[in-house]
Amino acid sequence: MQEHLDIWHEIKSQLSVAFEEQSYKETLESIDSIFKVKNNYVFLIVENEFVKKRIEMLYLKKMNRMLENYVSEPYQYRLVTQDQAEKELSDQKKYSPALPEEQFGQEIFNTNLNLSYTFDNFVVGNSNRLAYTSAIKVADQPGVVANPLYIFGDVGLGKTHLMQCVGNYILESDINKKVLYIKADQFVEEYVRLASKKKFDEFHDQFKEIDVLLVDDIQFLAKKEKSQQEFFKLFELLFNQQKQIVITSDRSASDLKDIMSRLTSRFLWGVTVDINRPELDHRIKILEKKMMAETSEKDLIPHKVIEYIASVFDNNVRELEGALKRVLFYCTAFGYDFTVKNAEIALESLVKPKRDHKDFVKSKINNVLSIVSDYYNISTSDLVSKKRTRNFLYPRQVSMYLIKTIYDLPYKKIGSYFSNRDHSTVMHSVEKITNDMIVDKNIKIDVEKLSIKCGEN
Ligand code: ADP
Ligand code: MG
Repeated sequence: MQEHLDIWHEIKSQLSVAFEEQSYKETLESIDSIFKVKNNYVFLIVENEFVKKRIEMLYLKKMNRMLENYVSEPYQYRLVTQDQAEKELSDQKKYSPALPEEQFGQEIFNTNLNLSYTFDNFVVGNSNRLAYTSAIKVADQPGVVANPLYIFGDVGLGKTHLMQCVGNYILESDINKKVLYIKADQFVEEYVRLASKKKFDEFHDQFKEIDVLLVDDIQFLAKKEKSQQEFFKLFELLFNQQKQIVITSDRSASDLKDIMSRLTSRFLWGVTVDINRPELDHRIKILEKKMMAETSEKDLIPHKVIEYIASVFDNNVRELEGALKRVLFYCTAFGYDFTVKNAEIALESLVKPKRDHKDFVKSKINNVLSIVSDYYNISTSDLVSKKRTRNFLYPRQVSMYLIKTIYDLPYKKIGSYFSNRDHSTVMHSVEKITNDMIVDKNIKIDVEKLSIKCGEN
């Protein structure tokens, strides 16, 4: 706490010269104590509600940016009025009279949350609107409207971001809420660590008091039966107390493999939403928002350049962000203008393999399609069509199987070559052929023959 107070004094003295004197005197000058440091928030005490609002509107952003230079972890300032602070202290005494007084305000519950993930900087479009609205509702009324909230979609599309928004939002309105963000593989690791020392109670205790549990990438619980059992117990415990649970995954709950069904069936009790790839105009909006965050100069990069970046990086928001940063860095570091030509140069090493890869994949898939349609004596257009007669359906499933096993493309991507079939249709086709090959020797021979043919080219 003393360390934070020293930092505050340092920042305050810089602010005193950065802002107009009168305004500084009326707002920041009298701030001289820290109420508490909790969940990576440093709570400064201000005189009254009026001063608090004024600082929040005019100075808080700047104060937080300055704080970043002094701390290695992502701390932020928050303000409480004298009245609020006193009330909270007296409430705490009422509810837990046994605790020694000096512990108040010092207890730190590690939420694992990244404070930069907020609803405010999450850009909404068709591909994520439902997920976004559901997340806001959950954050507004945790445990009431959708429990659990299950968010799924491919990598880099904003699942983690959105899930953490929920946690940050809840904490912002009630700093005493115990919010925990944990990746499913960390949950497994923690279980293994404590189970190996037979400290089952300790494992259990750290989760049982939680108000909001955010579990990221639940698919990593696959095959970890013991951890699944523990997670099941925890889920039951929190769910029965109407504590909010949010889960993300790379696939729908019914497509989760090697996770016990009594657990996955519970994921369907609440609300399930998916996030898809953003369309071009949505990608442009995301880039504009990111640019504002990086530079706070709206027109630094011409729209044409933004459009160019958005048109090339259509797969994944993380890549899109990376591309923007690269262009920014390239042009500012060398003092070049932000032109499409310069953006192309900056991104060349990322774009070329992408383009080559796309062409490569396309030609390989066309090759599989023509080999399979030849073999079964049907046309390629029937093979990729939506017609459901068996003489088309079966070869179609075989083609999907071949593409998945030879080139390991994402299910959704494979579906896009078959009249936009969805992720789960492709996944089921692949599973079906895998099973058929086990039970029917002739099918196995057929598919293996085709596989060799496809691999030869
Ligand atoms: P996932 O968990 O689905 O793999 P992340 O949540 O880690 O994806 O998102 C990857 C990156 O893209 C993050 O930096 C995130 O802030 C950003 N991002 C994703 N979707 C959006 C969005 N709709 N608006 C703003 N940023 C986004
Ligand atoms: Mg993620």
